Amino acid sequence: MINELNKIMEQAHGAFQEYQLTTGLEKKVFLYTIADEIEALGDELMQTASHETNLPVARFVGERMRTCSQLRSFGDLVAEGSWVEAVIDTAIPDRKPLPRPDMRKMSIPIGPIVVFGASNFPLAYSTAGGDTASALASGCPVIVKGHPSHPLTSRLVSSAIHIALEKCNLNKNIFQHVEGNSFEIGKILTQHPLTAGVGFTGSLTGGKAIYNYAHQREVPIPVFSEMGSTNPVILLRDTLNQNAPEIAKAFSQSITIGVGQFCTNPGILLGIKSSALNHFTSLLALELSLTPSYKMLSESIHINYNISLNKVLYDKGVETVYHAHATDELQASPVLARVVGTTFLQNPDLHHEVFGPFSLIVVCDNKKQLIEVWQTLKGQLTTTIMGTDQDLVEHKDLINIARNIAGRIVFNGIPTGVEVGNATVHGGQYPASTDSRFTSVGMDAIKRWVRPICWQDCPETLLPSELKTDNPLGIFRKVNGQYQR
Ligand code: NAP
Repeated sequence: MINELNKIMEQAHGAFQEYQLTTGLEKKVFLYTIADEIEALGDELMQTASHETNLPVARFVGERMRTCSQLRSFGDLVAEGSWVEAVIDTAIPDRKPLPRPDMRKMSIPIGPIVVFGASNFPLAYSTAGGDTASALASGCPVIVKGHPSHPLTSRLVSSAIHIALEKCNLNKNIFQHVEGNSFEIGKILTQHPLTAGVGFTGSLTGGKAIYNYAHQREVPIPVFSEMGSTNPVILLRDTLNQNAPEIAKAFSQSITIGVGQFCTNPGILLGIKSSALNHFTSLLALELSLTPSYKMLSESIHINYNISLNKVLYDKGVETVYHAHATDELQASPVLARVVGTTFLQNPDLHHEVFGPFSLIVVCDNKKQLIEVWQTLKGQLTTTIMGTDQDLVEHKDLINIARNIAGRIVFNGIPTGVEVGNATVHGGQYPASTDSRFTSVGMDAIKRWVRPICWQDCPETLLPSELKTDNPLGIFRKVNGQYQR
């Protein structure tokens, strides 16, 4: 195994030497071709993904659309070119006491990136998902460690990328796919001297393990682990009085979408004790009771769901509000539980993600306790505030607290569903991710795979096009402190 992985990394390193110099336009054609080839896989890909994950074909039609549009968006980004953040400070030869040299900087790719995808999004967060798309866009070769829970889907997507490489006359080792159901493979790839960075999406245990492997390396590299989250939701009183039925419906859907197997699943709902909160709880239980039980992604995820669920439900002080019993052995039924703030604060076991269609309502005595509970939850991918205008005015201070809790603050919406855009942040402080300065979704995800480099007093003819004085690519640059195109 080690020889094979060595060869893979050497090939990736070799491919990097030429791929890093590929133009934005060439990368755009490549990324668009990958998207075309994924679409050309047609129904076979949809059926395979559905068969391997127990999720419906309709879900994969949407996920494929998102995956392909993500690839094309990164293509557009690099073809436009300004993403390299070029900055030019021209020379001031007569500056006193010392002349200023000509300094020009931009971002360049760092080298081969190892990608670990999650099981719950076999297209959008896996083989050709956001990590792969952003790394390829930056000019880095990618080595995907295929997720063992969807091997055939991963193989099909991988074949589409290889066809795209061939059609675009690019080195076939710009993308490589490694299979095998062993953590040892992930460890070797993460610790390989030719690996320049790692992108991970999955569980906290897995993400932390990968991060720790990297810390044992001789040469440090960046590791971006995006992990699970409980995505706490604050339910304010006035909105519960006015909009409880609509909120219950929306959150029932958000808790159960994809059988609750979303990293942005609202796993903890916080409110202050009131008849409005009690009424909302009953409505939510009713909505959940109308949702059928579906099969989970895999046997191991189903086992883990039941283990983590029972840990919560059998905890002293936790009341089960709704729990239907599934009939099929892989099915997960939606579950709603309730606990008071004091008990929650005393029991850190209740703070963890339960990966499945589950949510815990935490009933706080007052605003002070609600804030204490919220802040105990540590780094989150998202946090949501549900409130009327009046609620928001009365709880202005919550907004400032939310800044220190999550990577994305949602107002009067549901956290599930992550838009791929220029302003997207999918990350947050640990344990949501291992590096809160970056996002794993959206156009800025590309920044994880580059480093800044400065050319000082470089002859004009040797400068990269992005930094040439006459700006032949027409990109946005900061020249002597002024943004211009
Ligand atoms: P997982 O069990 O952590 O697996 C993800 C990948 O990591 C797999 O390829 C797995 O290896 C590898 N891995 C896990 N532990 C490892 C270790 N100790 N050493 C080496 N490799 C290791 O995650 P999952 O069950 O597929 O996905 C569910 C989790 O992902 C949930 O917690 C969910 O919230 C989270 N998630 C997060 C995001 C996000 O963007 N933050 C998105 C989707 C899902 P093998 O291939 O050998 O099994």
